Amino acid sequence: MKTISSPLLSSFTDVTAVFTTRHGGISKPPYTSANLAFHVGDNPMDVVKNHDLLAEKLGYTRQSLIHMRQIHSDQIILVNETLNFDTPPECDALITNRPHTPLMVMSADCTGILIYDPVEKAIGVVHAGRAGALNSILQKTIKTMEKAFGCMPNNLRILFGPSIGGCCYEINEMISAECENKGYSNALRREDKKLFLDVNTILLQQLKEMNIPLEHIEVMRECTSCKSDEYFSYRADNQHTGRIAGLIILR
Ligand SMILES: [Zn+2]
Repeated sequence: MKTISSPLLSSFTDVTAVFTTRHGGISKPPYTSANLAFHVGDNPMDVVKNHDLLAEKLGYTRQSLIHMRQIHSDQIILVNETLNFDTPPECDALITNRPHTPLMVMSADCTGILIYDPVEKAIGVVHAGRAGALNSILQKTIKTMEKAFGCMPNNLRILFGPSIGGCCYEINEMISAECENKGYSNALRREDKKLFLDVNTILLQQLKEMNIPLEHIEVMRECTSCKSDEYFSYRADNQHTGRIAGLIILR
C-alpha cells in the first residue's frame, strides 16, 4: 500500500500521519487498486484486504481503526471505546486523545484534513468538500477539540491531503454566488464563461480567522483531478471510483 507523508507531521515521534494513493491495493477496475471505501460498489472482501494491507504497513490492528459514514455535514464525533472498525459513525469529523486509535477520513476530490496537537496529545480528522467548508466543519472541529481536550488553536498542526484544485473544480453560478455571499470571492476564478472554486482557499481563510500560525499548516497541493492516475477523483473518474484516505494515529 503506497502512502505519502508530510514534513509537518513526520518530525513528531508520537504521531503517525499519512495519506494513501490509489496504488498498492488489490481492488479491480474502476477501484484499482487501493480503494478503502465500502459504499462505492467495490467487492467488500477486497476493501477489507486493502485495509489489512494498510494496517500491516503502519502497525495497527484493523479493528482499532475508526472511519466514518461521511455525509457532507458538520457532525463531529468524539471517539470512545464503543466504536470500532465495524461501527463507523455518520459524521464528517472525528476527534480523540486515545492512543493507538487510528482515525481515518476518506475522499475522492474533497479535502481530507489531519489535525494534531503536540501539547495536549489529541488528534482529529475532517472531511471537507465544498459543503463542509461552507458549513465551517474545520473551524467547528477545532472548537470541539478546544472544549473536549483543552487544545489551544495556535498549537495545532494541520495537514490538508490531496484534493481537487481550483484548476479543475468547475461550479455553477448558484454555488459561486453562495461563496461570494459568505465572503469567499477570493476562492473563485472565472475563465471564459466557466467558474472554478478552490475549496482549500476557503479552508485556509477560516484557519487564518482562528489565528492558526501559517507555519503550522501544510497543504499537499496535489490536485486529484489533474493527477487521477495517482489518486481517486470523483470528477475525473466519472463518479465511479474508489476513495483514498488520510490516517492519523496517536502512539
Ligand atoms: Zn487540477
